Amino acid sequence: MADVEGEVIACHECDSLHWHTDVPEGGRAECRNCGATLYRAIPDSLDRSLALFASAFILLVIANSFPFLALEFGGRVESNRLISGGWALYQMGMGELGLLVFATSILFPLLTIGGMLYLLLPARFGHIAPGMGWVWRMVSGLMPWSLLGIFLLGTMVAVVKLQDLANVIPGIALFAFVGAMLAYAGGRANFEPRELWKVSPIRQLDPAVVRSGRAVLACHTCGLLRLRDAGLSHCPRCGSALHHRKSNSIQRTWALLLAAGALFIPANVYPIMEVIQFGQGEPDTILSGVTKLIGGGMWGLGLLVFFVSIVVPLAKLVSLAWLLKSVERRCNWNPKDRTRLYRVTEVVGSWSMVDVFLVGLLTGLVSLDVLATIRPGIGATFFAGVVILTMFAAMSFDPRLIWDNSDMDDEPEAQRASGGQA
Ligand SMILES: [Zn+2]
Ligand SMILES: [Zn+2]
Repeated sequence: MADVEGEVIACHECDSLHWHTDVPEGGRAECRNCGATLYRAIPDSLDRSLALFASAFILLVIANSFPFLALEFGGRVESNRLISGGWALYQMGMGELGLLVFATSILFPLLTIGGMLYLLLPARFGHIAPGMGWVWRMVSGLMPWSLLGIFLLGTMVAVVKLQDLANVIPGIALFAFVGAMLAYAGGRANFEPRELWKVSPIRQLDPAVVRSGRAVLACHTCGLLRLRDAGLSHCPRCGSALHHRKSNSIQRTWALLLAAGALFIPANVYPIMEVIQFGQGEPDTILSGVTKLIGGGMWGLGLLVFFVSIVVPLAKLVSLAWLLKSVERRCNWNPKDRTRLYRVTEVVGSWSMVDVFLVGLLTGLVSLDVLATIRPGIGATFFAGVVILTMFAAMSFDPRLIWDNSDMDDEPEAQRASGGQA
């Protein structure tokens, strides 16, 4: 640990500088300004995350090779695979939605986990994987779009919703998928990026240089510090473009937000799906679907769908717009709470994908010709557009802008370290 003694770390959310201090095992170091986690002390982080990601990979392959769910209806049994939802959407002429479901529930999780294994396995033995920077950039880019947990929530909603229509039988793949989701979450929780970068020959900026008070620049992807006047266009460690703040953050976030706001209207006006039983049925919008669930006594489910499909996207639009306005007006009101609001906005954004997965799953599962069929509606595509655009908007907003107008000095200070359970 001698090489990290006196190391300087820039907070990724407010850009304040901190001296590295040792943290008790299982504890984490917090930014003194905004409370973001700077780093954690996880014993055997590389070993643990490697084992968990490897398990997740195997389980995910199993989940893709066996039947996922089966539906028993009027003496007939229809078995489905994980890929069926995306495929059914494609066959019904909604290829873009099918691709989204396939990418976020199968392709991106596989690429993320595979990428992590590619980085962790050599690092575990002290070696650098060829193209480490490139793979790290891919993994950090795809991680927010690997929605295993959200897909599972969508599956649970689908199973409950189908109970009054047919008998749902879980397959081997469903159990493997639950295992994969848990192992993936465990792998992420046990992974500390700083441990991975220890194999890189490129060292963090000399603390003496930072102490001299010269302006520094932190890589937004791997946290490497460099002098701002060094004229570097790309990070020497991971290859990301280097800039003081995300470029055109405000304009880009506004554009994405306005587009998302515009799509929110057709997403709620047009039907997202149609349940046809014995040749009869009527299309449902998001809101009429919720009303039907509540009317049918499924209170919990109705409220859940209402929350993730209407409350979350609206709250996201409003809070991001408010954050942008506050930055534009150079407001210095409570930057810590505004950063917290941003953090929540970023985390809950992908929850809305539950509704998109639900449409995919129901379409894939229920295709029993004349007995019962569920067809996707164009509203689902608009809704998916809202979710994607608001997620991109949250990503393009730079939380450091919140702190640019606050009275924060550039002197590195000791961060707060909290011990015990991380
Ligand atoms: Zn901070
Ligand atoms: Zn970097």
